[in-house]
Amino acid sequence: MTFEEIKALDERYVMQTYGRNQLAIDRGSGATVYDTAGKEYIDFTSGIGVCSLGYANEAWAKAIYDQAMKLGHISNLFYTEPYAKLASKLVPASGMAAVFFGNSGAEANEGMIKLARKYSFEKYGKGRATVITLRNSFHGRTITTLKATGQDHFHDFFFPFTEGFRYAEANNMNSLMAEADGDVCAVMMELIQGEGGVNPLDKDFVQAVAKLCAERDWLLLIDEVQTGMGRTGSVFAFQQFGVHPDVVTFAKGIAGGLPFGGFLANEKCRKVLGTGDHGSTFGGNPIAAAAGNVVMDTLTEDFLEQVKEKGRYLRDGIAALNSPYVSGIRGMGLMIGVGVQGMAHKELKDRLMASGLLALTAGKDTLRLLPPLVITREEIDKGLAVMAKVMKA
Ligand SMILES: *Cc1c(COP(=O)(O)O)cnc(C)c1O
Repeated sequence: MTFEEIKALDERYVMQTYGRNQLAIDRGSGATVYDTAGKEYIDFTSGIGVCSLGYANEAWAKAIYDQAMKLGHISNLFYTEPYAKLASKLVPASGMAAVFFGNSGAEANEGMIKLARKYSFEKYGKGRATVITLRNSFHGRTITTLKATGQDHFHDFFFPFTEGFRYAEANNMNSLMAEADGDVCAVMMELIQGEGGVNPLDKDFVQAVAKLCAERDWLLLIDEVQTGMGRTGSVFAFQQFGVHPDVVTFAKGIAGGLPFGGFLANEKCRKVLGTGDHGSTFGGNPIAAAAGNVVMDTLTEDFLEQVKEKGRYLRDGIAALNSPYVSGIRGMGLMIGVGVQGMAHKELKDRLMASGLLALTAGKDTLRLLPPLVITREEIDKGLAVMAKVMKA
C-alpha cells in the first residue's frame, strides 16, 4: 500500500490520538528504515527507545520465531522457561531481588505504586499513601500514572483522578521537603526526565532523596521505563547515580520491539505483593520473554561501554556542527537531548525527516535522540551529515 492509502484507512477507522509524522515506515535493518516509497532514513528514535537491537535483528527474530512455533502463550498459572530465564538475568544485572513481568511502562508504574502503598499500609496503617513525584515528569497514560505525571496539562478531562500524589521541583530538596508530611509513603522519579525534555537529575539531588527515603522509610521508586535496559550505557541508569532503589520499573527497550515491561524490587520489598495481589494475563508472555532474553544477552559490559562511546561520539558530532539552532546538549549514553533555539523543535524534526533522519521531540524545545543501541559509526555519521545540512547557519 502507498502512504496515501494507509493514511486514508487510518483517518477513516482509527481514533486520531497521535500527532503523526507524515510518513508510513515499511521496513528496517539495523538503525536504517525505509518508507513505503522505498526512501531511506537513519533512525535516531528506535520507536521511542524500544528497538534497542535495531530492526530485523537476526538473533531476536529467530528467538521470536522459535518460541512462537513452540509455545506462543500460556497463562501465568503455569511455569514457563523463557520468563524464568529472563528473571535470572535481570535480577543479578540490576542488583535487585525479584521481578514482576507486565506489558507496558504505565502498567509497570501502576504496579510499583501498588507495591509502595501496600508496603506502607502493612507497616504503618491507613493515611500514609501519598507518592511525591517531580514536576515535568512523565509516568504514563492510565488514570493513576497521568496523576503521577507532574505536568498540569495531563490532569484535564478525565476526572476523578487517583488521589495521593504531590509534586516537587526536580533538583530542589527544599521543594521536596515542603511536601514531606506524615502521609507520604514514597518518592517516584525518572533519573533523566525523558518526555519532559531529556533533563538529567543532579546526582547530589538523587542521593539526597535516597537518603531521605531511607531515613523516613519511604520507598525510593525509580521509573526506568525509558532510561533502563542499556539506554544510558549501564543496564539501569541508577547504577551510574550511586543509589539503590526499592523498586525500579522497565519497559520500552526490554524486548527489543515487543510489548513488555515490569518492575524489580529489592530484598525489603520482594514479598510485599503476594498471591492474588497483582497479576497480568499477558505478563511474562513466552514470546516477549524470549525476545527479552536476546536483549539481556546483548547487554554485556563491552556492549554497554560501546553505548557510552557512541553516545559521546554523537554528542561531540552535534557540538562540532556549531549550529546556531543548538542551545545545549544533554543526556547520557544514547539518550540525548538537543536544546533547540531559533526554530520550533517540531519544525526542526520535520526538516530532518525530509532530509532522511528520524528524530523525536521532548518538552517545549528539545530534539530527543534515542538511536538503536546497535547503531553503527557509519549510520551515526550519516545522521550527523543530515543534521549538518539542515542545521547549518
Ligand atoms: C514511555 C514512558 C512511560 C509509559 O510507557 P508506556 O509503555 O507507553 O505505558 C512511563 N514512564 C516513562 C519514563 C516513559 O518514558
